[in-house]
Amino acid sequence: MNSPATESTSSEVLPLEVRNITKSFGTNQVLKGLSLEARKGDVITLIGASGSGKSTFLRCMNLLEQPDGGDILVHGEQIGFKNTRRGREPTDWRQVERMRARLSMVFQSFNLWSHMTLLENVIEAPIHVLGKPKKEAIAHARSLLDRVGLLERADYYPAQMSGGQQQRGAIARALAMEPEVMLFDEPTSALDPELVGDVLKVMRDLAEEGRTMVVVTHEMSFARDVSSQVIYLHQGLVEESGKPADVLENPQSERLKQFLAPKY
Ligand code: ADP
Ligand code: MG
Repeated sequence: MNSPATESTSSEVLPLEVRNITKSFGTNQVLKGLSLEARKGDVITLIGASGSGKSTFLRCMNLLEQPDGGDILVHGEQIGFKNTRRGREPTDWRQVERMRARLSMVFQSFNLWSHMTLLENVIEAPIHVLGKPKKEAIAHARSLLDRVGLLERADYYPAQMSGGQQQRGAIARALAMEPEVMLFDEPTSALDPELVGDVLKVMRDLAEEGRTMVVVTHEMSFARDVSSQVIYLHQGLVEESGKPADVLENPQSERLKQFLAPKY
């Protein structure tokens, strides 16, 4: 127990490394020193009760929330922070933009832009952030939509698609940035049960092709099958972490045993 699933070798550039992240909202300290190392191809799943800090941890990784303390390194590049009257802030927002292009996030609520077709959603950032020529962005987008099984929906608007289709569209949009790491925050928990499988299938495929992923999920069979490391959070701390066979099949702490026990 508690041994990291991966040992880093000295020469390797880690796609993502976060060390000792702390975060409070007012007097409520929700992250109490969280670290994580993702090597290329790792799938790290974060599990834990509602309110344990999973989303906040994920949001700190790409600075949707500003951590109060700790280090973030993306592809070996450490994000610079400075202390201001408002608190701790990144020194250079261009650096943040650069690192965000390497970390694509997929949220619980499928947040495609409602006024754009699916294809327009997928080509938007590659054209406007990466500066890709439109023709190239469209060709890439169509191949990604094909991969997630949505090519025939390219010209639909989000409201014309099911939640599962929108979420697969959101994954295609994230992939279009050719990210080094994909962050997922409970991507299936807002879906009707019958739509969960298609989204998990896409995520399993991504894991199998060696994508580096950090996934907050309650889907324990997904966590068991694809994770290189499972991290169980409790009140902003790592309570247990390691290989899924250890953490999920042989939990040590009473709390994790309770968490994993069938609810009914
Ligand atoms: P989880 O994703 O594990 O359910 P969260 O990271 O969403 O947990 O929340 C952890 C704690 O932080 C909760 O107590 C939550 O109420 C609090 N929290 C999260 N975001 C905010 C915010 N923007 N302002 C104040 N409190 C927040
Ligand atoms: Mg959450």
